[in-house]
Amino acid sequence: MGESLMTTAKTTHIAGEHITIEGRWLRQRCSWCGYVILDYDLSLTASNDGKGPHVWTAGSLVDISGVNPIYSALNQDESLPDTFCGASETFGASPTTSEECNQ
Ligand SMILES: [Zn+2]
Repeated sequence: MGESLMTTAKTTHIAGEHITIEGRWLRQRCSWCGYVILDYDLSLTASNDGKGPHVWTAGSLVDISGVNPIYSALNQDESLPDTFCGASETFGASPTTSEECNQ
Protein backbone atom coordinates (compact mmCIF):
# COMPACT_ATOMS: atom_id res chain seq x y z
CA MET A 1 0.00 0.00 0.00
CA GLY A 2 2.83 2.39 0.79
CA GLU A 3 4.24 1.68 -2.62
CA SER A 4 2.22 4.41 -4.30
CA LEU A 5 3.84 6.99 -2.05
CA MET A 6 7.22 6.06 -3.45
CA THR A 7 6.31 6.44 -7.11
CA THR A 8 6.60 9.70 -8.95
CA ALA A 9 3.35 11.15 -10.15
CA LYS A 10 2.83 10.27 -13.77
CA THR A 11 0.37 11.65 -16.27
CA THR A 12 -0.39 10.15 -19.64
CA HIS A 13 -1.23 12.59 -22.43
CA ILE A 14 -2.25 12.08 -26.04
CA ALA A 15 0.06 13.84 -28.45
CA GLY A 16 -1.59 16.15 -30.95
CA GLU A 17 -0.12 17.33 -34.23
CA HIS A 18 3.00 19.39 -33.68
CA ILE A 19 3.28 22.76 -35.37
CA THR A 20 6.24 24.88 -36.38
CA ILE A 21 5.82 28.62 -36.81
CA GLU A 22 8.18 30.70 -38.93
CA GLY A 23 10.52 27.72 -39.07
CA ARG A 24 11.56 28.45 -35.53
CA TRP A 25 8.95 27.82 -32.86
CA LEU A 26 7.95 24.21 -32.44
CA ARG A 27 5.17 23.21 -30.11
CA GLN A 28 3.27 20.02 -29.50
CA ARG A 29 0.35 19.83 -27.10
CA CYS A 30 -1.82 17.13 -25.65
CA SER A 31 -4.86 16.71 -27.90
CA TRP A 32 -7.07 16.15 -24.91
CA CYS A 33 -6.15 18.67 -22.23
CA GLY A 34 -3.80 21.06 -24.02
CA TYR A 35 -0.76 20.31 -21.86
CA VAL A 36 2.41 21.49 -23.62
CA ILE A 37 4.40 18.33 -24.33
CA LEU A 38 7.13 19.91 -26.46
CA ASP A 39 8.08 23.58 -26.74
CA TYR A 40 11.21 24.49 -28.65
CA ASP A 41 12.91 27.57 -29.98
CA LEU A 42 14.68 25.80 -32.84
CA SER A 43 17.24 28.57 -33.14
CA LEU A 44 18.55 27.43 -29.76
CA THR A 45 18.27 23.71 -30.41
CA ALA A 46 21.26 21.84 -31.77
CA SER A 47 20.55 18.98 -34.09
CA ASN A 48 23.07 16.47 -35.43
CA ASP A 49 21.10 15.49 -38.48
CA GLY A 50 19.44 18.78 -39.31
CA LYS A 51 15.98 17.29 -38.87
CA GLY A 52 15.25 19.02 -35.60
CA PRO A 53 14.10 17.48 -32.34
CA HIS A 54 12.04 14.35 -32.00
CA VAL A 55 8.29 14.94 -32.07
CA TRP A 56 5.59 12.47 -31.12
CA THR A 57 3.34 10.93 -33.70
CA ALA A 58 -0.13 12.42 -33.34
CA GLY A 59 -2.24 10.10 -31.24
CA SER A 60 0.70 8.67 -29.31
CA LEU A 61 0.14 8.12 -25.62
CA VAL A 62 2.96 9.91 -23.83
CA ASP A 63 3.78 9.31 -20.18
CA ILE A 64 5.23 12.33 -18.43
CA SER A 65 6.58 12.05 -14.92
CA GLY A 66 9.07 13.69 -12.65
CA VAL A 67 10.55 17.14 -12.35
CA ASN A 68 12.73 16.40 -15.34
CA PRO A 69 10.04 14.69 -17.35
CA ILE A 70 10.53 11.17 -18.58
CA TYR A 71 8.70 10.59 -21.83
CA SER A 72 7.69 7.18 -22.97
CA ALA A 73 5.29 6.01 -25.61
CA LEU A 74 2.63 3.42 -24.93
CA ASN A 75 1.31 1.02 -27.51
CA GLN A 76 -1.66 2.31 -29.44
CA ASP A 77 -3.72 -0.77 -28.71
CA GLU A 78 -3.43 -0.40 -24.96
CA SER A 79 -6.46 0.91 -23.18
CA LEU A 80 -6.10 4.29 -21.56
CA PRO A 81 -4.27 3.96 -18.25
CA ASP A 82 -5.43 5.33 -14.90
CA THR A 83 -2.86 8.08 -15.33
CA PHE A 84 -4.61 9.44 -18.44
CA CYS A 85 -4.98 13.21 -18.07
CA GLY A 86 -8.70 12.97 -18.80
CA ALA A 87 -9.33 10.01 -16.50
CA SER A 88 -11.33 12.08 -14.01
CA GLU A 89 -13.73 13.14 -16.73
CA THR A 90 -16.83 11.19 -17.60
CA PHE A 91 -16.84 10.56 -21.31
CA GLY A 92 -19.87 11.79 -23.16
CA ALA A 93 -21.40 13.33 -20.06
CA SER A 94 -23.10 16.68 -20.12
CA PRO A 95 -21.63 19.40 -17.88
CA THR A 96 -24.30 18.74 -15.26
CA THR A 97 -24.33 15.50 -13.32
CA SER A 98 -27.25 13.13 -13.49
CA GLU A 99 -28.04 13.92 -9.85
CA GLU A 100 -28.48 17.57 -10.69
CA CYS A 101 -30.68 16.67 -13.64
CA ASN A 102 -33.03 14.66 -11.44
CA GLN A 103 -33.73 17.49 -9.04
ZN1 LIG B 1 -3.36 15.70 -21.57
